[in-house]
Amino acid sequence: MKLEVDRARLLSEIEALAAISDAEAPAVTRIVFTPTDLEARAWLTARCEEAGLTVRQDAIGNTFARWPGSEVEAAAVGTGSHIDAIPNAGKYDGVVGVLGGLEAIRALRRSGFRPRHPVELLVFTSEEPTRFGIGCLGSRLLSGGLSAEAARGLKDCDGESIDKVRRAAGLCGELEDVKLPVGYYKAFVELHIEQGPLLERQQIPLGVVTNIAAPASLRISIEGAGGHAGGVLMPDRRDALCAAAEMILAVENAARTTGAIDTVATVGTCEVFPGAVNSIPSRVRLSVDIRDTDLARRDAVMKAAESASQAICTKRQVTIHTDLLNADAPANCAPAVIETLSHSCRKHQQKFLPLVSRAYHDSLFMARIAPTGMLFIPCRNGYSHRPDEYASAEDIARGVLVLAETLAAISA
Ligand SMILES: [Zn+2]
Repeated sequence: MKLEVDRARLLSEIEALAAISDAEAPAVTRIVFTPTDLEARAWLTARCEEAGLTVRQDAIGNTFARWPGSEVEAAAVGTGSHIDAIPNAGKYDGVVGVLGGLEAIRALRRSGFRPRHPVELLVFTSEEPTRFGIGCLGSRLLSGGLSAEAARGLKDCDGESIDKVRRAAGLCGELEDVKLPVGYYKAFVELHIEQGPLLERQQIPLGVVTNIAAPASLRISIEGAGGHAGGVLMPDRRDALCAAAEMILAVENAARTTGAIDTVATVGTCEVFPGAVNSIPSRVRLSVDIRDTDLARRDAVMKAAESASQAICTKRQVTIHTDLLNADAPANCAPAVIETLSHSCRKHQQKFLPLVSRAYHDSLFMARIAPTGMLFIPCRNGYSHRPDEYASAEDIARGVLVLAETLAAISA
């Protein structure tokens, strides 16, 4: 089997997909089920069909493009990622795993390889939480990590229910049917940019992921008292934004004091009401993201933030309400998949680094229903979720080559 990645074609496809965007180049914005997302899906389906794959969509829009194996009924070997992009993002996050996965399958076909197990490209719906406030919507439903009933309760920023939005996008069928049967996948492997600086810093071209950190997200609402910025004297104030400022620092402090490099916490948004220059903020909403590879340590950070909020309430005479949006467990990659990925790297004389994934991915949920692994390639300065996100053609092609080798080994 001689595997050759068609680098030029893959790069031109990455550019073509990046052009289907609601932001001006080089930025990419592609929010799930917008006309732009639907256009990108149609474009991608056409590329998969061109490659001879059979494409189906489930009720939430997860897309499966299948290359049948010689044993039609055998469990499939899956690969894939997502194509939705947060506002003002780059062109490689998720896309490298989708178009790279497609190119890996094409490379295998060109080589004359015939899989015994079906090989399937899987494109997950809404990995990014932008529209419905919850990340990995598609893979949560596939893995049973989110029930159909809970999913139906989700609404987008305009208050539209998920059922209405997906049906408007042409997706019928029942959300109950999205969950995959046990044993559907023999293994699942996701190729992704690292979204961190370690591979680049150590000048190692590939990362084999050992485990994926546990994410939690909270929404914190702070209620104080508004008033005229001139009229209300300082001793009488119950400024919600000042309380929020203390809360933000408390979250940071809770993460810093664990002393563990794997603990991270971020307050990513801060909405201020009424938001006028001469008005005391009466209400603030923060979104908080806390992650760790160790579940107990992550939960301890959440507890520390909670007790800080009680102290701030007392001190500033405000009320603070915390909603837990999600708190997922970490995932370990399957030793057998790690071993196959490592072996594929060695076979092509590529150095690799065992790595923790601090960002979470659909693989976090796929790991609940299938032996799962992830392969990382470097991205410049570790930048991601920004327009200057960049992965080199050479690194992408190398990742696709090792992915193809791995899919061949598992599906043979
Ligand atoms: Zn991603």
